Amino acid sequence: MSDPKSDPTAAESGKVALVTGGSRGIGRAVVERLAREGHDIGFCYRSDDAAAALTEKEVRALGRRVLSRRVDVTDRTQIRDFVTAAEDELGPVSAAVTSAGITRDSPLVLMADEDWDAVLRTNLDGTYNLCRAIAFPMIKRGGGAVVTLSSVAGVAGNAGQTNYSASKAGIIGFTRSLAKEGGRHGIRANTVAPGFIDTDMTSVLPEKVSKQMLGRIPLGRFGRPEDVASMVAYLVSPEASYITGQVFQVDGGIAL
Ligand code: NAP
Repeated sequence: MSDPKSDPTAAESGKVALVTGGSRGIGRAVVERLAREGHDIGFCYRSDDAAAALTEKEVRALGRRVLSRRVDVTDRTQIRDFVTAAEDELGPVSAAVTSAGITRDSPLVLMADEDWDAVLRTNLDGTYNLCRAIAFPMIKRGGGAVVTLSSVAGVAGNAGQTNYSASKAGIIGFTRSLAKEGGRHGIRANTVAPGFIDTDMTSVLPEKVSKQMLGRIPLGRFGRPEDVASMVAYLVSPEASYITGQVFQVDGGIAL
């Protein structure tokens, strides 16, 4: 951690973004993109210290301040402490991005209750937990930008993913409601719903499934984490100051 008091560049920026699941995949691309756009970054991750250290190094190399914490988004106390630590060390948070997420795929008739619970707790409760912790500080300061990560599975459903699709559809309803509640306080809340993005999450899929997916993508390639990060960067920027409560599919056209 660099000392904010001895880092005038950072103090001048006034832009601080929190990203859950920022150590790998889409979250990591968001961290790097927002750092490039002049945000100081607080990010959390569940367990992969090595990946987090690499992400931290990237942010520092971009000249921004960074706070990274091993925080389980399902744990409300840990999330609240993370938000407090980020505001203490980096300053008022102006943007929050909820990227932490997991899959535990299975047909409904074979679904283990633990897999239902784990996915709902991580994806949906995790989104609530960060937004609940940051909403009041944002309201006190007159606003902020929230971007949640859903999925095309949350928009259209997906066989074998009842748990994941329910969590991601819940995130859309949550975000639209936050947009309605928060608008008069200057909070904008939008959702990005990616299609098939090339990350660790999708690398576990059997080759046959990946090939089938590819055949359904009009743009003829899987998405890159950076494709999603550029939408997130737009949504937290002043360019999007009249946009709230929307769902943006970044999916190469797979859901058409
Ligand atoms: P990923 O590569 O598997 O990375 C997941 C990230 O979330 C990691 O940083 C991981 O930390 C963190 N995480 C997981 N559980 C956590 C918890 N309980 N507490 C804190 N952090 C936790 O996933 P991704 O592909 O980048 O996906 C990011 C988001 O986009 C997810 O919400 C996902 O559902 C959504 N999405 C992805 C795709 C896709 O095709 N990849 C498509 C649609 C939507 P550790 O590394 O420490 O485990």
